[in-house]
Amino acid sequence: GVSRRGIRGGFVPPIKSNGNNSGNMSSRISGKCDDSLDESTKKCLEILCGPDGELPEKLRNLEPRLIEHVSNEIMDKDPNVRWQDIAGLDHAKKSVTEMVILPLKRPDLFSGCRSPGRGLLLFGPPGTGKTMIGKAIAGEAKATFFYISASSLTSKWIGEGEKLVRALFGVASCRQPAVIFVDEIDSLLSQRKSDGEHESSRRLKTQFLIEMEGFDGDSEQILLIGATNRPQELDEAARRRLTKRLYIPLPSSEARAWIVRNLLQKDGLFNLSQKEMDIICNLTEGYSGSDMKNLVKDASMGPLREALGQGIEIAELKKEDMRPVTLKDFENSLQEVRPSVSPNELGIYDQWNKQFGSLS
Ligand code: ADP
Repeated sequence: GVSRRGIRGGFVPPIKSNGNNSGNMSSRISGKCDDSLDESTKKCLEILCGPDGELPEKLRNLEPRLIEHVSNEIMDKDPNVRWQDIAGLDHAKKSVTEMVILPLKRPDLFSGCRSPGRGLLLFGPPGTGKTMIGKAIAGEAKATFFYISASSLTSKWIGEGEKLVRALFGVASCRQPAVIFVDEIDSLLSQRKSDGEHESSRRLKTQFLIEMEGFDGDSEQILLIGATNRPQELDEAARRRLTKRLYIPLPSSEARAWIVRNLLQKDGLFNLSQKEMDIICNLTEGYSGSDMKNLVKDASMGPLREALGQGIEIAELKKEDMRPVTLKDFENSLQEVRPSVSPNELGIYDQWNKQFGSLS
């Protein structure tokens, strides 16, 4: 409900008063709705104010609690992922660099004919690094990262999705350069005909498409990234706005090896020979990046389980005495951690990629 944060009435937005620009944002807020906004909300609005102490146009008619939610929950000030953390996907990294990162760094070079697309679709099986790429883009381009799962707009924000979308794009526009990452974008922009009951989801979709049109000029430094495991559900309007569409496939054998080595080395648990690594790679054909992570996690429990199995008390276990993870640990864990993507699902991605994907 609206009163969740103790906001009683509607927020009265500060109105631009020509010439008579006395007082900063904070005094305006406190002057107008002293007890209706709490400190954290005020602080959050203040940060978004321009040098003139005014809230930008786009945010004026929005409820402060939505703006606050976007700033605190959806905005990630430090996504903390870099290209080097992502295994494989060289082709995606390269085209994303050209399409997004360079333009965000040098908008002057990328204007006119060179002006980049504003919409990027990352599609492919779950757990292959789509979210990581989104974060890395923001990290590499020093952009503000906004993450929202489209299904939460329809499930958690019932009836308020539209307003939240407006707040999201509004705050992003104050925080440029910005990357808005919409996970499960298919649930927002699907081509399924919505019946009367789903009037609200139709309105949400319309609002979203309108917002996307809004930053299509040279002036805005906002990139929208949609991620989906179900690209075939996107309709023509959605495809038209997501001009670049990159297939993010399952990791190659090299990428799987990289994930294993990287995770184990971080913990000082890596001691596998090349031959053993080759065996692990062969046995993990069809595993996603996230499956690989789960496999490594389970395998790294091997030494611990073994020690406990020998009757050693957990309190007596010394971390430095733990043996490295072995091929046998991996072989045991392969029974537990199965691939999450089925081979026939992959056919759908290949087909969609051939029809709609960007090849570079
Ligand atoms: P998606 O968005 O494609 O569903 P994520 O990017 O959220 O998948 O990946 C989930 C987790 O799986 C990551 O946090 C990471 O640990 C692991 N992972 C997936 N793909 C890769 C990859 N290419 N390189 C390294 N780790 C990966």
